Amino acid sequence: MAIIIDGKLTATKYNNALKDSINEMVQKGNRQPKLVVIQIGSNEASSLYIRNKKRACENVGILFEHKVFEESVSESNLLDEINKLNNDESVDGFLVQLPLPKNIDEDKIINAISPSKDADGFCPITLGNVVLNKSKIFPGTPKGIIRLLDEYKIDVTGKKVVVVGRSNIVGKPISIMLTNLSATVTVCHSKTVDLKSETCKADILIVAIGSAKFIKEDFVKDGAIIIDVGTNKVDGKFCGDVDFESVKEKVSAITPVPGGVGPMTVNSLLENVFTLYKEKVGN
Ligand code: NDP
Repeated sequence: MAIIIDGKLTATKYNNALKDSINEMVQKGNRQPKLVVIQIGSNEASSLYIRNKKRACENVGILFEHKVFEESVSESNLLDEINKLNNDESVDGFLVQLPLPKNIDEDKIINAISPSKDADGFCPITLGNVVLNKSKIFPGTPKGIIRLLDEYKIDVTGKKVVVVGRSNIVGKPISIMLTNLSATVTVCHSKTVDLKSETCKADILIVAIGSAKFIKEDFVKDGAIIIDVGTNKVDGKFCGDVDFESVKEKVSAITPVPGGVGPMTVNSLLENVFTLYKEKVGN
């Protein structure tokens, strides 16, 4: 029976440590850190994610502001708002909740966020620094995965890691971050020929494709470690990209969905905000 890698417990541990660090800064006479989240429209999933972020911020002592724009907001109004936030000394970090409505160019919006305010770690300069292994800010999900592996004492050095999915927010950055940690990484995607033969070679398999229970028992090697990023809703219930029930007897460790990578992503966001805050207020 596999070890269940508990993201909820791990995130709580690191959120509590962060709460103490923020408290200490405030006791020294500093202001509280502040995160702003911009939402465009009223996408139900986005609203849920934002509520979770708000609750998490409030729990650790990060001020939270939620700015909502109509779906019809123009790109230039949005860019003006981003410019204001870039220059607002009271804001340590902000993010624009994705996905955006079709009339708004996502690249343009993300490019407009100053790296010194990049709470999500998605802007090109941040990602460039991640590639160069000199960033203090990281995209939340990859940062959370690495923290989880670390917490469970899973050394990635020299390990064969297979990442399925090559998105800019999960697949690509995690493959680069693990390469920087001396893993041997293979990235797979929808055009990969014979995916199964690749995934079956993995000591550590990371799946981020957005396809419910896609990875079955025959896609994994005996004793592998499985990190399931997928968040899918089937019949009103959340499940991952990995078929947990069929895989769990064969592998040595696996993240559940929910309660695996998700809580770690939020913890990473909070840590990014605190890092940006410390760069502003000092230690
Ligand atoms: P994207 O939709 O941006 O990218 C999906 C990737 O998976 C693409 O690279 C695509 O390949 C690849 N892919 C899709 N189907 C297959 C397949 N059958 N075989 C191989 N590769 C495939 O995904 P995201 O990275 O944004 O999200 C992935 C999942 O993770 C979603 O369920 C999302 O909800 C979840 N997620 C969860 C988070 C958390 O905190 N738990 C955070 C972020 C995402 P190609 O490039 O060729 O199209």
